[in-house]
Amino acid sequence: MTSPSSRPPGPGTRAVHAGERQEVPRRPAAIPIYQTAPYLFRDADELATAFASGDLTALYSRYANPTVRVVEEKLAALEGAEDAVAFASGMGAIAATLGALLASGDRLLAAADLYGGTHSWLAWLGERHPEVAVDRVPLAALADTLAAGVPPDTRVVYLESPSNPLLACADLRRVAGLAHAAGARVAVDSTMASPAVQNPLALGADLVIHSATKYLAGHSDVTAGIVAGDRATVAEIRRAMMWGGACLDPHAAFLVGRGMKTLTLRLERQAANAARLADFLRAHPKVSRVHYPGFDPVGRAQMRNGGAMLAFDLAGGGAAAAAFLGRLEVFQIIPSLGGVESGVMLPAVTSHRQLTPAQRAAQGIHDGTVRVSCGIEDGDDLEADLEQALQEVR
Ligand code: PLP
Repeated sequence: MTSPSSRPPGPGTRAVHAGERQEVPRRPAAIPIYQTAPYLFRDADELATAFASGDLTALYSRYANPTVRVVEEKLAALEGAEDAVAFASGMGAIAATLGALLASGDRLLAAADLYGGTHSWLAWLGERHPEVAVDRVPLAALADTLAAGVPPDTRVVYLESPSNPLLACADLRRVAGLAHAAGARVAVDSTMASPAVQNPLALGADLVIHSATKYLAGHSDVTAGIVAGDRATVAEIRRAMMWGGACLDPHAAFLVGRGMKTLTLRLERQAANAARLADFLRAHPKVSRVHYPGFDPVGRAQMRNGGAMLAFDLAGGGAAAAAFLGRLEVFQIIPSLGGVESGVMLPAVTSHRQLTPAQRAAQGIHDGTVRVSCGIEDGDDLEADLEQALQEVR
């Protein structure tokens, strides 16, 4: 490297700039991490032209980043979507999507059975921005509500299928058909299934959202979110991401992208474990009910398998659930899901604590409801762990 006067640059200058102009002759086998916020420009003309072009590829990493782009392209390919945009978290993806789709005077029709964070965000939206009306109906009544007729300014239908935490499934084809007839777009949070298990766009949804923190990344080591859909709508949502600022960090994107490579393999084992444990729990005398998409005709019809999540109600209620958690040895107590490790949690005190007891009861969430995320461990060990922990439960 040279300095302006062609004398050798000082050590401070060398430390900052030396070695940074290497061209790599071949593609790396692993996803490269572009750990940079801005990109460098040759001159003022390139700077102005690049920013004016509308191509966000290599300007500033809040707009777009090559490592993040790998994740977006993988998800678009897995969901059969034209495009996708990634976020720092699932909540970032949900907030930007609804922020981009809804304008003053619009109505949002949302399922009542949602992840607690989404529930809180919608409550906040309704309170702080009354210019957008938020209508909530039980997931089980969503299609019939649409069939009966919704106000004409209903622009978006928002749901989870399967839902968190009880894995209720909506008939996505029917919901999408009725919503479209009413002039509304359909956004489905498919986190609980993952693209290895179902593809909502193929069933008629307009947008599919994931907390990539869960199955896509798959190792409980990163938070991320992503939305996929048609190119024009994803571009609108990307603008909401750029201005809202919830961009995915390149290093986190590397972890998500690496995790996505093994998504289908992980889900094969995880779903097999879930199917086995669902049967085991259904036959257990201390379990009053098992919630599992593989037992639901709607879930079975639109998912490739029952997925890797289930929930069950302990007949002994909250005290029984606390005792059960305390005895587990292989299952982790973990307020998340979708990792390679099997885990349990109690929705009433974690993901759904912000609901009133009456709201929880209306959804079927009890103090004795245990949500189970099945990992990739050996099914024999998982079943034995549940069995020994249930033995002591009253
Ligand atoms: N959607 C569902 C179904 C979830 O379970 C969660 C988190 O648990 C989220 C969205 C939010 O995702 P994140 O925690 O990545 O913001």
